[in-house]
Amino acid sequence: MGGPGTPKIVSRVLINRDMKDTIKQTLCGGATKTYPFYEVIVAHELFHCCNVWHHGPSLDQVVYWKSKIVGGKKELLEYDNPADIDAPYRGNRVTIHPGEDDTLIYAPDLALWDKPFPVLMGNSWGPHSGDENCIMRYSNSETRTGSAPNIRYCLVWECQEPVGQGLCTSPTGTGVNEEGRKTGSRYGNCASGQGDCTDHICVNDLYH
Ligand SMILES: [Zn+2]
Ligand SMILES: [Zn+2]
Repeated sequence: MGGPGTPKIVSRVLINRDMKDTIKQTLCGGATKTYPFYEVIVAHELFHCCNVWHHGPSLDQVVYWKSKIVGGKKELLEYDNPADIDAPYRGNRVTIHPGEDDTLIYAPDLALWDKPFPVLMGNSWGPHSGDENCIMRYSNSETRTGSAPNIRYCLVWECQEPVGQGLCTSPTGTGVNEEGRKTGSRYGNCASGQGDCTDHICVNDLYH
């Protein structure tokens, strides 16, 4: 409560008692990896009490995928606002690929899309950006924009985010965020002035 900043502005840190000790993620290629989770969350929150911020401002948002019949044919549409789903002429047409594989496409007539399907979309320079192994990086994105503005990579079941276990020393994207990566950097480098978490640590209230 309060923060991020030096200890004087944080009144308390609350951690959900149901938080899991570990989390299992399915990475690209289908391999699963189990990461420590509870201790990572506690350390992340405590760093918010020591002047460490996120890797970017919060630009992540929940979007909704739903099929709709347009001109007699089923199309997949994406909505930012659930109130728009039943309104005419709203939503953007999207092509959704499983994982980050441009060669496979989810068909718009799958029963999955009959009801609004909510997914958290990570955005460039947001909290998912930067060093993949930093505990201050978010790791819960479920989709991202692919090789064109209307392409979505679905990360719900595969190509899930790795969960950072260290603290970054640079704002440069690594791993899933590395520039020149085969399927493209997911969220890029950290936002300007953010990242390089190690150098932001300050526990002295007199300096801020
Ligand atoms: Zn945080
Ligand atoms: Zn970091």
